[in-house]
Order: sequence, then C-alpha cells, then structure tokens
Amino acid sequence: MALLAEVKKHYGKSANYIGGEFVPSKSSNVLEIENPSTLQIIGEVPLSLIEEVDAAVENAHSAFPAWRETPFGTRQDYIRKMGDVVLEEQETIARIIAQEMGKTVQEARDEVGRVINMCRAALSVPRMMMGFSQEDVASGLDVHCLRQPLGVFAMIAPYNFPAMVPFWFLPFALATGNTFVLKPSEKVPNAMNYIFQLIHSKVKLPAGVLNMVHGATEAANRLLTHPKVVGISFVGSTPVAKHIFTVASQNFKRVQCQGGAKNYIFVMPDTNLDDAIASIVSSFYGCAGQRCLAGGILVGVGDIYEELKERFVELAKGFTVGYSLDDTVNMGPVITGAHKNHVLGLIEQAIKDGAKALVDGRNPVVKDGYKGHFVGPTVLEGVAPDSVVGKTEIFGPVASLMRIETLDEAIELVNASTFGNGACIYTESAKAVREFQYRARAGNIGVNLGLPAPTGDFPFCGMKDSFLGTLHGQGQDVVDFFTDRKAVLARYFGLRKRFFA
Ligand code: NAD
Repeated sequence: MALLAEVKKHYGKSANYIGGEFVPSKSSNVLEIENPSTLQIIGEVPLSLIEEVDAAVENAHSAFPAWRETPFGTRQDYIRKMGDVVLEEQETIARIIAQEMGKTVQEARDEVGRVINMCRAALSVPRMMMGFSQEDVASGLDVHCLRQPLGVFAMIAPYNFPAMVPFWFLPFALATGNTFVLKPSEKVPNAMNYIFQLIHSKVKLPAGVLNMVHGATEAANRLLTHPKVVGISFVGSTPVAKHIFTVASQNFKRVQCQGGAKNYIFVMPDTNLDDAIASIVSSFYGCAGQRCLAGGILVGVGDIYEELKERFVELAKGFTVGYSLDDTVNMGPVITGAHKNHVLGLIEQAIKDGAKALVDGRNPVVKDGYKGHFVGPTVLEGVAPDSVVGKTEIFGPVASLMRIETLDEAIELVNASTFGNGACIYTESAKAVREFQYRARAGNIGVNLGLPAPTGDFPFCGMKDSFLGTLHGQGQDVVDFFTDRKAVLARYFGLRKRFFA
C-alpha cells in the first residue's frame, strides 16, 4: 500500500502538450484510466477534438524551421538531457507504468532502461545522417549527397510499452531535426504525461518541437490525413496497422507500421535445459504475455519434448500472480476486462478444439486477493498450428506446446505463419543457427534467448503481417525514415586542368 501512495500524485487528468504548454482538452468525451490490478480509477484521458490535434500539428510545423537550423550539437544536448532525466526518475516512471499497465515493477524498470538506451542511441544521429560525395563525375563536376529532415512526424502508440515504444521514434525524430506529435495509447496515458512533465521542466525544448495529443481512433485518424504531417510511425495490432498504412499512404505520407505477432520458440535436442529453461518460460509469461515478441508456441524438436514440457509446466505453476506494484509478485494482470475475456475466450476455444490445459490460468490464485484482470500462466498441449488459437495472437500468459521432429519442420512452421515478428531457436549447433537465421521468415531472430528485442542502435524488425512499410523503428532505419536524401551536383568553371603539373 505504501507503494500505491508513492505514485498517487501522478494520478489525474491528462492534458495535451501543445506549443510548449500543458493544455487541458475541451473535449467532454473522457475515458477513465483503471489500475488493472485493483480496478481503482487512477486518472482520465480526453478524446481530444480534431481542432486540438490540428493545433498540435500547427505548432510542430511552426517550430520546424528553427529546430532544423539548430546545430546538431545543441539538439544532441537536449536528447542527452532527456535520457539523463529519465534515468534520474527511472524508479518513479517504472512505478507509474507498473500501476497503469500492470506489468511488474521490475519489468517496468527494464522498459525505462530501454527509453534511456534509445536516447543514447539517438546521440549517434549526426554520424548516421552523414552524406557522401564524389569529385569529377564529369569534367569539373562534383556530386554530394545530403540527408535532410522533412518536417512534422506523428507517432501512434500501443498500450503494452507506454514509455519505450514512443521512444523507438521520438529521440531520433528530434535528433534528425524534425518536430514531433505523439498520440499515446488512451489506455496508459500517465507514463508519458509524467515524462513530458520532466521534459518540460528540465529539458526545456523549444516550444512546439515536441507535442502530445491524447485520444483514440479519431485523433489518430486526423494525424493520418493532416496535410502538414509528413510521416506516421505506428505500433499496435495488425488490423489497425493495415488501416493506418492504407490511409496514411493514400494521403501520400511516409508510413511505418509495426503490427501484431505469434512467435515460435524452438528447442533443439542438443539444448541444455538447465541453461535455457528460465528464459524460455520468461518469454511466454513476462508482462503477462503482453509483448509483441512474447513466445506464443513452444516447440520441442524430437525427444527433448517430454523433459521440456515437464520443466516448463513446473515453472509455470510456480508464478506468484498479484498486484504489479508488489515487488514479490512475478506476474501482474492483463490490461482490461475486455482483454481478459479475449484471452479466456481463446483458452476455451483451444480446449473446445481438442487441446488439453496442462496448467489452467483461468481462475488464478491472486496474492492478497486483488480483484483485477488476472489470468494465471496457462499451458496448452494439442493446439494445431492451423487452428484458430494456433493462428491468433493471444497477447496473454498462454503457451501452446507441441512436438516436431526436424529443423526443416520448424522453419516451415515459421514461414507458414502470417506473422513474422520474432522466432527463436535454442541449440548448441552453429549449423542449425545458420540454417534458421537464413531461412526463417521473421524479422527478429533469437538464438538461445526467448525475446529477441534489438537495442536502439539496430532496427526493430518484422516481416509479413507484423510489419508494413520499408524502414523500421530504431537505429539507422528510423534515421532514414525521418530524413530524405538530396543530391547536389556542382560544376566549377575555369578550373586549372592539371593541379599538380
Ligand atoms: P491497438 O492496435 O489496439 O492500438 C494501437 C494504437 O492505435 C492506439 O494508440 C489506438 O488508439 C490506435 N487505434 C486503435 N484503433 C484505431 C483505428 N481504428 N484507427 C486509428 N487508430 C486506432 O493496439 P494495442 O492493443 O494498444 O497494442 C497491442 C498490439 O500492439 C499487439 O497486437 C502487439 O503485438 C502490438 N505491438 C507490436 C509491436 C511491434 O513492434 N511489432 C510492439 C508493441 C506492440
């Protein structure tokens, strides 16, 4: 309860951040924010009016020329400071995230660690934006190629990483000289409210460079059509990703959309389960399965299956489910009652289709009896890969276990999936790793780890229905997304032909 009190001061009404000021929305359409562990109301978020989205974009547009002309070193100073203030406040931000999203405090600390990592990676932007040149492409004619920022970029975020996912884009957009409008998930506004307060009071970016507008579908859709938005970064579910990609493209915007997933984890016969089992289990149950790189289907290749099943089930039964702000808990709730029903519905569907629940999380024991949206670790056996549950993203703490006999079958399973976010292999065989990384059609490959989430210097990849676009979030890809090339051809008259003669 003391922990609850500590974050209470960050409850409250979400204001938009427009032109360097916190501006309460005039909208009467307001959603309540619920703590998914306790069902207490911990804040509210406005569904902002179109005119408020427009004001955010206009402010970002007005701020662009001066920000673009701001020297790289000065822009870097702001980004460095942003990372520093997040680091100073890591624990508070983690508690806000744990409270509103339901992941454990430790998981939230790790998330904030990634925010800091992104700010640090964005300090390399001046180098990543460097151009190239060549003399004498014709007589007396040189070409050089520049990278330049484009204007206002907008980002539409999902609920499961309230702070990290916006930072896959935000520091890179600013470091490249663009201005930015963020629409956080309407389910988890508090973390970004707090981070924006820190940025406002301690980083003191020039007004309009960074803006935030709260809302849901309507606000997001306005960003897709606003003529002064040049590009959209989206992270969320695949159906929404397809909608965003289509509408933003029809409005001639750059667009990158990271979507949903259904990830396979393969355990080859030569795997030492003493080394591997903890990270395999954590892949499925970390953040109560609400991670786009979470394991969905665990596959034992050959005779290792029986031991894998036994050890996985044993650890799945050992989780303490409870209030995410309780440091002794290792699994919190899922985000909403509706999402809990979605997860329970898929467990029921799997059982109806013939699967067996080796561990059934539908009525979990919850530490201290909290009444939140809890689902316990669930282990299913006998889910066919082409069944409804075999193909659907559950986004909850549910593992489907299956056995196959060969690496070829493993690669076929990955490639038959409509998703292509992550795929992991546990093995000691370099040959198996080479085959897997070469042939498996998934964007993020894990070798002897269960959550292949690239750090900020690398792109966060994805294929098939897990990613729509060309350039991904993070790293060089996102720098390329936020900038355009310009080729300059320069001719010089009256040059001495032989400089060294
Ligand atoms: P979601 O698609 O429901 O919502 C994401 C964002 O889109 C929110 O800001 C929401 O307000 C907005 N939105 C929803 N419907 C819209 C519509 N019709 N038009 C315009 N905007 C709309 O996703 P979620 O439930 O918040 O997040 C979970 C999903 O995100 C999962 O599918 C997960 O796999 C995915 N995800 C993917 C990655 C990745 O990198 N591939 C990372 C994190 C989460």
